[in-house]
Amino acid sequence: MKLTEIMKQRMALSFEVFPPKTDAGMEKLPDTLNHLYEFDPDYISCTYGAGGTNVGRNMDVCKLILSADNRTVPVTHFTCIGNTREEIKKQLDAYLEAGVDHMLALRGDLPFGWTGTNGDFAYATDLVKFVKDNYGDKIEIAVAGSPEGHIACRSLEADISFLKQKQDNGADYIMTQLCWDMEQFKRWLDGIRKAGVTMPVDVGIMPILDMAATINMALSRNACVMDRELCEIISRHWIFPNPFVKDPFDAAVDQKKEDFKKEGIAYTIRQIDKYRALGVDGIHLYALNKWKDVSEILNQSGIKTLV
Ligand code: FAD
Repeated sequence: MKLTEIMKQRMALSFEVFPPKTDAGMEKLPDTLNHLYEFDPDYISCTYGAGGTNVGRNMDVCKLILSADNRTVPVTHFTCIGNTREEIKKQLDAYLEAGVDHMLALRGDLPFGWTGTNGDFAYATDLVKFVKDNYGDKIEIAVAGSPEGHIACRSLEADISFLKQKQDNGADYIMTQLCWDMEQFKRWLDGIRKAGVTMPVDVGIMPILDMAATINMALSRNACVMDRELCEIISRHWIFPNPFVKDPFDAAVDQKKEDFKKEGIAYTIRQIDKYRALGVDGIHLYALNKWKDVSEILNQSGIKTLV
């Protein structure tokens, strides 16, 4: 089943999970997935660790999704990091043999201290072309889109032109980087359409649940703009001396964490409303392997009954 076909008919709903690092985490994953299946997601994507870490577990997670008795499609993330042509072919053959025929083709986050991919391909555009040339329509290919521009792009225009190149090379649809700045998202959407990018746009949304994780996600790699509303939520519940220390001296820390999460969930729901009102082709929730909070967001947002 082509996910792009679904997105032509209606808005898709999907989740992103990551391969647990420990055996204990892996044992808990089926229960998490079972709860996520209740929302009848069109697909669940699984992240692919930089430098090949967790690659084996990524395949295990995809197989777990395939073995479930429902129609949820597993989508594997796949990166250029440390991968030669031969290794890419070997891995993709193994995914296909296992029944996984959907991928998110990425350059990948460069491991700390690396200046390039140390693989045969420097950019996702090349990976997309390689997959298309070797597998034709056997694999449906998603690619990343950065509404604020990728952190290393020389300009937003250049970044958009590389997105068009991904489409020309055979990509099928876009999964976006998180973006809280709705005005920027609209500008980017207009920009990519003007540039001839016609691929469906599946919007990546990170639930706001934890203060340190939110700031970390925004600033450690992506330089995402936090809008005034989100900054206010952070400021109102700031954990002193700061949310990153292990044992904060702030006596109200537990209450602040709880209040932050409550307001964060409400904020996430408002973001989903705004994206849906823009007519995006899909909502892709970074589920962070946390089904309870994700369920609360989806139940409160009303998305389940409408999808
Ligand atoms: P590219 O599209 O290759 O772009 C990288 C940079 O190079 C950009 O600045 C672009 O403007 C520039 N560029 C692109 N093509 C060219 C060219 N031909 N010439 C010159 N410059 C060019 N990372 C992981 O490691 N594992 C994951 O599982 C993972 N999952 C992700 C899921 C989503 C939904 C998203 C949005 C990102 C994910 N990432 C993941 C992060 C991603 O790998 C990083 O953002 C990475 O830094 C860029 O990947 P890309 O595919 O966008 O790169």
